[in-house]
Amino acid sequence: MTYGLQNSPTPARIEELERPLLDDRSYRVITLPNKLEVLLIHDANTDKASAALDVNVGSFSDAEDMPGIAHAVEHLLFMGTEKYPQENAYNQYLASYSGHSNAYTAATSTNYFFEIAATKGNKSDANDASGEASQTPRPVSKEDSTLYGALDRFGQFFICPLFLEDTLDRELRAVDSENKKNLQNDQWRLHQLTKSLANPKHPYNHFSTGSYKTLHDDPLARGVKIRDEFMKFHSTHYSANRMKLVILGREDLDTLEQWAEEIFSKVPNKDLPRKRWDDTPIYVKEQLPTETFAKPVLDNRSLELSFMYRDEENLYESHPSRYLSHLIGHEGPGSILAYIKEKGWATGLGAGASPVCPGSSLFAISVKLTEDGLKYYKEVAKVIFQYIGLMREQPPQQWIVDELIRMSEVDFRFKQKTPVSGTTSALASLMQKSYDRKHLLSGPSVIRKFDATAIADAMSYLRPDNFKLRVVSRDFPGDWDQKEKWYGTEYKTGKLPEDFFKEIDAAFQSKNRPKELHLPHKNEFIPTRLDVEKKEVAEPLKAPKLIRNDESVRTWFKKDDQFWVPKANVHINFRTPVSSMTARTASLCSLFCGLVNDALAEYSYDADISGLQYEFGTHHHGLFVSVEGYSDKLHVLLEKVLTSVRNLEVRDERFQVVLDRTLRGLRNWEWGLPYHQVGAYSRWLKHERRYMADELLGELESITAQELRDFYPQALSQMQIEVLAHGNMHKEEALRITGLVEKTMRTKRLLPDQIPIRRTLVLPPGSNFIYERELKDPANVNHCIEYSIYLGNARDRNLRAKMLLLAQMTDEPCFNQLRTIEQLGYVVFSGASVSDNWAGYRILIQSEKDCRYLEGRIEHFLTMWEESLAKMSEEDFEGHKQAVIRKRLEKLKNLTQESNRFWTHVFNDSYDFLQADEDATHIQALTKGDFTEWVRHSVSPSSAHRAKLSVYLTAQAKPSEPSADEKKEATLLAVTAILSAENLTPDTEKLSPRLADSSAATPAGLVAAISAHLTEDLKVSQEQVDKIVDEAKAALGLAEVEEKLEHPVELKDDALAAVAENEHANRVSEPILITDVHAFRASLPMSAGVKPVKDFSEYMEESAKL
Ligand SMILES: [Zn+2]
Repeated sequence: MTYGLQNSPTPARIEELERPLLDDRSYRVITLPNKLEVLLIHDANTDKASAALDVNVGSFSDAEDMPGIAHAVEHLLFMGTEKYPQENAYNQYLASYSGHSNAYTAATSTNYFFEIAATKGNKSDANDASGEASQTPRPVSKEDSTLYGALDRFGQFFICPLFLEDTLDRELRAVDSENKKNLQNDQWRLHQLTKSLANPKHPYNHFSTGSYKTLHDDPLARGVKIRDEFMKFHSTHYSANRMKLVILGREDLDTLEQWAEEIFSKVPNKDLPRKRWDDTPIYVKEQLPTETFAKPVLDNRSLELSFMYRDEENLYESHPSRYLSHLIGHEGPGSILAYIKEKGWATGLGAGASPVCPGSSLFAISVKLTEDGLKYYKEVAKVIFQYIGLMREQPPQQWIVDELIRMSEVDFRFKQKTPVSGTTSALASLMQKSYDRKHLLSGPSVIRKFDATAIADAMSYLRPDNFKLRVVSRDFPGDWDQKEKWYGTEYKTGKLPEDFFKEIDAAFQSKNRPKELHLPHKNEFIPTRLDVEKKEVAEPLKAPKLIRNDESVRTWFKKDDQFWVPKANVHINFRTPVSSMTARTASLCSLFCGLVNDALAEYSYDADISGLQYEFGTHHHGLFVSVEGYSDKLHVLLEKVLTSVRNLEVRDERFQVVLDRTLRGLRNWEWGLPYHQVGAYSRWLKHERRYMADELLGELESITAQELRDFYPQALSQMQIEVLAHGNMHKEEALRITGLVEKTMRTKRLLPDQIPIRRTLVLPPGSNFIYERELKDPANVNHCIEYSIYLGNARDRNLRAKMLLLAQMTDEPCFNQLRTIEQLGYVVFSGASVSDNWAGYRILIQSEKDCRYLEGRIEHFLTMWEESLAKMSEEDFEGHKQAVIRKRLEKLKNLTQESNRFWTHVFNDSYDFLQADEDATHIQALTKGDFTEWVRHSVSPSSAHRAKLSVYLTAQAKPSEPSADEKKEATLLAVTAILSAENLTPDTEKLSPRLADSSAATPAGLVAAISAHLTEDLKVSQEQVDKIVDEAKAALGLAEVEEKLEHPVELKDDALAAVAENEHANRVSEPILITDVHAFRASLPMSAGVKPVKDFSEYMEESAKL
């Protein structure tokens, strides 16, 4: 005890954290003897536990000659520990309790986190989850806790990481692949350009992701032992006193504290200081003011003004920069955006400070320009400076700050829970800041006081001599003469021309400015009535009630009975077949929505910043409006939205702006990432009528403002209205809102038999279709496949249960096989896919390897997995079932999640509000025998009965061919990775001579040499050798592509007859290439439509209860 007092005084426990009104968690901040600060969070009702650890070191500490090293250490840290040497012990443990993990590397922080089921899911826990959790938690033993096991595995990474040698290369490839994925992404490109043009002495200037070249090839060429470098980085920068840990669980605080102490006290402390960069400015004097012109990949235009700004970490009580961002970023009357929008120059504007590191910040103003706006970008910059001048001319306005204070308090007071790992990760990162620990939860959001001096100081940074201007456009000015080093972005840069500077300075100084610019008016949308009528219920209702159901309208309603926030969500669906009759009517509808939203932008801004948002849009079966937020003034906004929809004035100038934006959006979509596109093609082929970007583009180009004026009243004339009102609201209000919708829209009813029906195409048993399309971006080298198996009707509960279980069981093995072992590409997804009545299973891969090759690997994986299923124990099978059930029964975290669940089931015509419970019941009933039989029949590539559709998106460009050495090295790496997955270690003495042999110079020869080593030296069984060789070939692109995939037959009339005949004869069909989508659809039958699972009368409120 005495020693304890001398060395480290008993740490203070801080428990009185300022918290939201409805927060039922308890908190405790402690500091361990090794100076690791820990925040413990006890949540008696959580169904997920989580922890996050943030280390105060990031890419700003990268060595000059090894950019990306902090990020690579983040990847490598998780490769084995002394206590748990198996490299995937941690992830396997998490996966077995429905958990997952992730990590990120920022400038001054590296953040690691995981989440996991809060309990092992035995019976008594299930009772807790149903709401009977007692407020005094039972102590949980370590053995019974999922969290303890996860913490122990997690903690070892910071105590005794191994940096396993044989995982080094693979993780560096993963980093490389991550970087490659970003190379064509404008956000990454432009962010790096800003960094690359900053002060070379400031680490902000550096490249932080890293690549195989910066982390492997270059250091190796300099004779550096790379693994040693990583370990050195870790030992120099990782220290307990730089770490902040957050643990959230069901266990009480004392138990959590004991565990934290037991595990994390062992993290070595080196008393390293917190790094600061106070004396190095982000931009040096010669770099201000400058202008830069950059060419983006996508067709986007923008203007950005970036000011050097101060670090405001210690000013969190007044948050001075929020005054600036509130005024400059305002979108209501008098604002910069309202003015330049009216001029036809801009479509959006954002402003705000972002901290770079302790010691510096940037304040950026970014404007989305129209084509005209690009021509007048100098004028736009001048308007911004005119407004800044106007703002600085008046002393800081207390009433404006009072509004901000009020909203920040209201938002914090009624803040609802968010997913746990997001919470722990964000809090661990916040703990690196100097907030008073009592303000840890509220610090970043709540403004506590008006500080006129601090605001006046803040404004002094926004000056013409303290900023950089950047114009982004694909067409202007055209003479970019430089290329950014890491991403290859073309740009041009120089001092701001003297005459332009003078114009800006004049705009800034002069009092002669457009009268349209002024400070905002008082915000009428700030909620004043925040009462919630709290009526305790035994159990929350799981479905809304139908409170009105007649020929023109259906209204669903539920008064909130579990979240108790003064908020409500109202969703309205206007069903009509018009919105998707043809590609032209679909285009007209999206232009209509674009124009309504454009017209409402100024008005709705005040509501938006007061926590009240609306949405108006089009979908395949009609139009929709939703309004969500504080219920007090919700009806005011809703009425305005509906009126604007009904009485839109289509102005020629606005029409042009919206049309241009819509066109660009579609063109950019076609140039987007292949894996973002592939799903849309898949859905297009599953439905009778869907439109792809090229079809919509073809129509949009010829639509005029007049056509839209004529069209939209027609479109609105006949619709079926359906309303969901949910939240802090009474039934009478829900009915009043319904009345408001009817009165404002003045729409005639749609005859019941004209209400659109949701159907999909049905792939007959034995189908084997391929649809292929070339990607638009000529520079992209990535192909993408979506391989979809049609399983049947999504309303079949038993089938859904099997589909969900299939998705769960293949999730980890699919990723492990296709991404980790075979390294086919960075993007690998698998899972269930449901669209209307289509129930399916899909695997998606984006890869430099071609789609036929990928299809072969997918089928190979499915076959392998099917074999492993046969060998799976009953216990493991049950474990998977419980994992899906847990996911389906996961608790709703907030009001909006619950509204969205209701709305999904109303919107998709099924009204299947109890689906999650039904799923759980049906999954529980599945037996391994039935499931295996179903897989063999409906999923297995060797089944003559299963139905499959693949979409291939093919790249135009080819990746650069690797050299012979690189190929050899890649082979070795792949083989090492595969061997370690099989728990084998090569015998180097015997392997070396085999590799030295000249026949091993080609990848195929190498594979043969390794095969011989396995068979002859290691005496591995032939079966295992075959598997390894097969995987090695796959990873090297040497696996064979089946002949039938190389030459699929074209879809003709008799092709489908052949499918039927094959199925009948129990033969697997040859692939059929879809060349004519119309003919493809015409040859397939349609599913039944989606119908309500119960008669509407059963959803009505019983009159007796009223
Ligand atoms: Zn990474």
